[in-house]
Amino acid sequence: MPDTLRQKGQRRLLIKELAEKYNFNPEVLQAMEHVPRHLFVDKGLGHLAYKDKPLPIAARQTISQPYTVAMQTHLLDCRKQDKVLEIGTGCGYQAAVLMAMGFRVYSVERIRELYLQAQKNLANTGFDPNALFYGDGFAGLPQFAPFRGILVACGAPEVPRILKEQLALNGKMVVPVGQHEQRMLRITRTGADEYKTEDFGFYQFVPMLGGTQK
Ligand code: SAH
Repeated sequence: MPDTLRQKGQRRLLIKELAEKYNFNPEVLQAMEHVPRHLFVDKGLGHLAYKDKPLPIAARQTISQPYTVAMQTHLLDCRKQDKVLEIGTGCGYQAAVLMAMGFRVYSVERIRELYLQAQKNLANTGFDPNALFYGDGFAGLPQFAPFRGILVACGAPEVPRILKEQLALNGKMVVPVGQHEQRMLRITRTGADEYKTEDFGFYQFVPMLGGTQK
């Protein structure tokens, strides 16, 4: 499926809309302008891809609304070449945005069907499908730690301890925490065993669940 002029135009309007809602880092908005979101959602939903709305993906999961993707990427506060871990690949859209930022990206998904679909989506849009891992994100990716940034794209019951421990010194984790609705927290590692927590308000995510699923 192509990325037509019309879709590029719709995407530019969405980016403009996001820029009016919040003072996002311009690099985040540029990255989002590069990623064709309509090629990550189900074919039948492509016409909704450039509205600022969450959309259903396979396995009863959802792709976050563009505003939330922009906010989490902004709060991550990373630079080009930084190592960044995402938990909850879903369709791969957020991972593609992180790659478009120039980060070295690793992303973990617990549902095999989504992991496989996301690999296809990334390959199809020119991003690296080898950045994806099938597994339980509660364990992080110790073989690639420490990370400068960790972006959790599902609602965690509490701040996952193992992920905190995979942060580099001064690294930041952006994680929605809570049961039915979540508060967007940013945890900064300030010492070997010291962390600072900032709160950026309410959001709604699908839950972070343990174990893997076919
Ligand atoms: N970032 C995604 C949206 C993800 S929705 C995108 O751009 O499409 C949240 C995802 O987190 C779901 O796919 C869900 O299966 C996944 N998830 C939930 N718990 C997880 C865990 N413990 N490890 C890895 N992925 C998890």
